[in-house]
Amino acid sequence: MAKVTPMMQQYLSIKKEYQDTILFFRLGDFYEMFNDDAKTVARELELTLTARNKGKGDEVPMAGVPYHSAESYIAKLIEKGYRVAICEQVEDASQASGLVKREVVRVITPGTVVNNNILEEKNNNYLAAIVGSDQGYGFSLVDVSTGEFAVTQLDGAEAANKVIDELSRINPAEILVDDQVRSSKPIMSFMKSQINPITTNIQESFSYDRAYELLTDHFETITLEGFGCEDQPLAIKAAGAVLDFLIETQKRSLKHINRLSTYSTIDYMVLDANTRRNLELVKTMRDKSKKGSLLWVIDQTVTSMGGRRLRRWIEQPLLDVKEINCRLDGVEEISKNILLKEELRELLNQVYDIERLMGKVIYGSANARDLIALKSSLEILPEVKGSLSEFESSMLEELQQDLDKLADVTELIASSIQDEPPTTITEGGIIKEGYDEQLDEYLDAKKNGKNWIVELQQRERKRTGISSLKVGHNKVHGYYIEVTKANLDAVPEDYVRKQTLSNSERYITPELKEKESIILGAEEKSMDLEYQLFIYIRDRIAAETDRIQKSANILAKLDALISLAEVALNNNYVRPKVNQGEIIDIKSGRHPVVEAMLDTEVFVPNDTYLDQGDERFSIITGPNMSGKSTYMRQVALITLLAQMGSFVPAESAEIGIVDRIFTRVGASDDLTTGQSTFMVEMNEVANILNNATNKSLIILDEVGRGTSTYDGLSIAWAVIEYISDTDKIGAKSLFATHYHELTELEDRLAGIKNYNVAVQEEGEDVVFLRKIIPGGADQSYGIEVAKRAGIPNLVIDRSKEILAQLEEQEEKTIEVTTKDKNNKEEIIDNKENLKEEQLQHYTLKESSATSTQMALFNTKESE
Ligand code: ADP
Repeated sequence: MAKVTPMMQQYLSIKKEYQDTILFFRLGDFYEMFNDDAKTVARELELTLTARNKGKGDEVPMAGVPYHSAESYIAKLIEKGYRVAICEQVEDASQASGLVKREVVRVITPGTVVNNNILEEKNNNYLAAIVGSDQGYGFSLVDVSTGEFAVTQLDGAEAANKVIDELSRINPAEILVDDQVRSSKPIMSFMKSQINPITTNIQESFSYDRAYELLTDHFETITLEGFGCEDQPLAIKAAGAVLDFLIETQKRSLKHINRLSTYSTIDYMVLDANTRRNLELVKTMRDKSKKGSLLWVIDQTVTSMGGRRLRRWIEQPLLDVKEINCRLDGVEEISKNILLKEELRELLNQVYDIERLMGKVIYGSANARDLIALKSSLEILPEVKGSLSEFESSMLEELQQDLDKLADVTELIASSIQDEPPTTITEGGIIKEGYDEQLDEYLDAKKNGKNWIVELQQRERKRTGISSLKVGHNKVHGYYIEVTKANLDAVPEDYVRKQTLSNSERYITPELKEKESIILGAEEKSMDLEYQLFIYIRDRIAAETDRIQKSANILAKLDALISLAEVALNNNYVRPKVNQGEIIDIKSGRHPVVEAMLDTEVFVPNDTYLDQGDERFSIITGPNMSGKSTYMRQVALITLLAQMGSFVPAESAEIGIVDRIFTRVGASDDLTTGQSTFMVEMNEVANILNNATNKSLIILDEVGRGTSTYDGLSIAWAVIEYISDTDKIGAKSLFATHYHELTELEDRLAGIKNYNVAVQEEGEDVVFLRKIIPGGADQSYGIEVAKRAGIPNLVIDRSKEILAQLEEQEEKTIEVTTKDKNNKEEIIDNKENLKEEQLQHYTLKESSATSTQMALFNTKESE
């Protein structure tokens, strides 16, 4: 330590407080990083790694970036998941005695960015906090860029799963967790494998009392009753942890976070992480892109705020019939008023991201251009309000009534800020003439002075008779009079020589200097004053945050509704009848995304009927690639669209509210958690069996495929028995399978109906008709599909031979006992559907029996 310079000592003592954060240490015009930080930054940003005290034996690795371009470097680091602490010189270097004082002025983390270069327009950027206890979890989220702050408490036996569902919904960039959460294996492994956020520990000493105090201080309230979470201690602790973290890292006003909304997950349809992923609601499974997702099809919003809102609607379908119908009424009314719709869309087109602009206003990072953007966004409010008044549906009427025209704010900006101001706020040119008398005086003085100088040239030319005399200005000498060498004779007495050039001489006069100092003084004063006025105006706008955010919220909703109307019209959707009933009845339903992706083929619509009586469980058989998954997903998506308040791709649809949608689709190895495909599949099935109710909708695709045939068949069989049993679950379900044996269940169990995908044989070829028809399929077309996939003809022909031989030998019988409708054990004699099993050469051996037991055991274990 002895050799460490005072500056390095300062560095090290600050760095100690920011261990897992990269410290940007301001040294003059640079931010410098040292030691491991320097190495990390050099590697990640491809900067040169140098060293302090090079060659002196006590080298310190060092890397730096110029301060004026630091923003893009910081952005890159944040995107890579690092935290960056900005340490500034907090006193004027020229006035400091000894070492300049330095302080961390802000910590930028992936969950707290407000920089537009990093944020995705139509995506929220969330920081979440989760705290746990024996009772359950508190879950809070904030988007610092928009001011959204919400909290919920998740109790009960399934609390950890509910946390996972929420995490998968909001996909936070950063998560604060306490020890209790750290010790929850399911939550931590979900985080690691699915979201991979940056996590920070909540100090053990952080208490409920501290949280309560922070929140009431911040909102300036006595209790938290007004926010609806007074009696939810875990929620309060989580929200407090979020706020604590923001205060620690942001070190500036958080006034735009002006509300805490307490929500309850029971108000929304439950969608677990798998279902969200499988249904590709906001991104595709394969490449995680928006294109190809449901959101991609229905997002016709024109504002970022509307885009984020629509996304939230998809992620949180409703359960309340009244609320759903309110949205549907709005969508319907807009779709019937094409002129008004176009008018509103055009207005919304001029709207910038008000929520994020307000974030910048509060943060003090908004410049004059941001205020102009805010003004042009708010300017449309009166017109929007006018157009809205022509609607009658309750939601639109409410939006109309609540919409604050904010004329005072618009007027304030319009009267004070130049229409095309510069981006810097310290160099003047921002404030309009006529806004402030004092400023006008300075500007006048400046202008007059400049005019005087312009006139001076004329005057002096006349006086001296030198027609080439010029008045000029440069940074070093200020204003001067320039005379060429040829005319030096005519230079009057009162000129004072200032500078000699090769061809000319430059002079000043006392009068010129006097005017110059007036001009410069006025300029400096006006720049100062403009800056102060700007800050004052920005603060006045900040004081209206609440009202502005409310109007922004209305525009967001309106944009989302209009988007739904637009999609309904463009894609030919109909209004679903949504009710509390038990029936899902879809006529000529279509898959919204597949139909949008098909280019040459026409999408073949299909009907669906599910109730809670005789037709609650459909078993769908049919060859690979015939359209089974598409069909099942389409039913789930239509139901989800209906419950988010959207029209649906069908000729007609009646949707009895479902409380949850479960899907178990496709087999994908979850390599990140090191689980086998089969294990993953069984985990998902276990989740369904443990959580589904008779109000749920279950989609199961090829359950039992990941293991040997008999194993798989037995599990599938037992799963169907369990789900279709009204004493156990009795949920509406669609089950696609390869096991033709399962079609037997239609006759054995109540509520089950068989369907298959129609195919047409044309000679050797098979044509998929994509039509779902009643009855079980009687043939597997595996070889046909193999041929389509491009398996060489030699192999195809050979498999046909083998199949024929196997069919000849078919003598085997599978006997399965099942509980019939009267609960009597019965033996099914199934000779017909053996082809596939024989092809796969599977026999029921001891080993596979053991894995069946394993699977069933696992189902229990994860209860
Ligand atoms: P399966 O689940 O039976 O293997 P998929 O549902 O994956 O089959 O369907 C395979 C492909 O067939 C889809 O990617 C889609 O292109 C097409 N397809 C499915 N259903 C339809 C339909 N109703 N109309 C038109 N094309 C369809």
